[in-house]
Amino acid sequence: MHVFFVGAGPGDPELITVKGQRLLKEADVIIYAGSLVNPALLSIAKPSTAIYNSATMTLDEVIEVMEKAVKADQKVVRLHTGDPSIYGAIQEQMDVLSQKNIGFEVIPGVSSFLATAAALKREYTLPEVSQTVIITRLEGRTPVPPKEKLGTLASHEATMCIFLSVHMLDNVVAELIEGGYPEDTPVAIVQKASWPEQKIYRGTLQTIAGMIKEAGVDRTAMIVVGRCLDSNYALSRLYAPEFGHMYRDAKP
Ligand code: SAH
Repeated sequence: MHVFFVGAGPGDPELITVKGQRLLKEADVIIYAGSLVNPALLSIAKPSTAIYNSATMTLDEVIEVMEKAVKADQKVVRLHTGDPSIYGAIQEQMDVLSQKNIGFEVIPGVSSFLATAAALKREYTLPEVSQTVIITRLEGRTPVPPKEKLGTLASHEATMCIFLSVHMLDNVVAELIEGGYPEDTPVAIVQKASWPEQKIYRGTLQTIAGMIKEAGVDRTAMIVVGRCLDSNYALSRLYAPEFGHMYRDAKP
């Protein structure tokens, strides 16, 4: 048996993959990231499944639970919010498992930045507006490499999805404006995307901080910045009649 790292998706229990759901049903041991994973997902586990909340555990403790279970030939699911490859602290777990010769597999999930686009009903990559999405965060207790400071990234005026930073929104806005985004650049903040209590706030770099302070938004929120939120854009070439491609000839 080995360990399955599973992306739980952004919150809605129906947004886990079919494969992830099957593994949750079959698991003998589930270790879930309790601060963000929707506990409703755990209701499909077998009654006999041992369930651990990693919020109160150290890395060593997590690994110990995995190691014991695998030795006892049990199926372990390590459930991470969204997709585990994004701010999931998954690498350090995988590296220790490799050192210990414990096999593992990763099942991707719907990241919260994608559930946020769905909630906003916007496309991040509008032709002639932005073809680039920057996933980043403001520096917190985890440092950010100097070349990736928000101000530096801002110079591209690409679509930006900023994780883990809503509680420092004043600093986010200041760095983005300093870095080159015009003050009237649209900003959307989606709190708990895909959860029943999902909330959407829309403003500009100039107005958003005041709005959010009044609303008392907590940490489970995504900040999206960029002209893709409001702009006029060129139509996609993919569906343009005069534009042929592999699956469709151009129409005169
Ligand atoms: N691996 C996760 C991110 C974990 S970091 C993923 O792929 O989504 C935690 C941060 O993700 C939060 O601070 C918040 O910025 C964002 N986040 C997670 N779930 C969210 C949700 N449902 N709605 C909005 N933002 C969310």
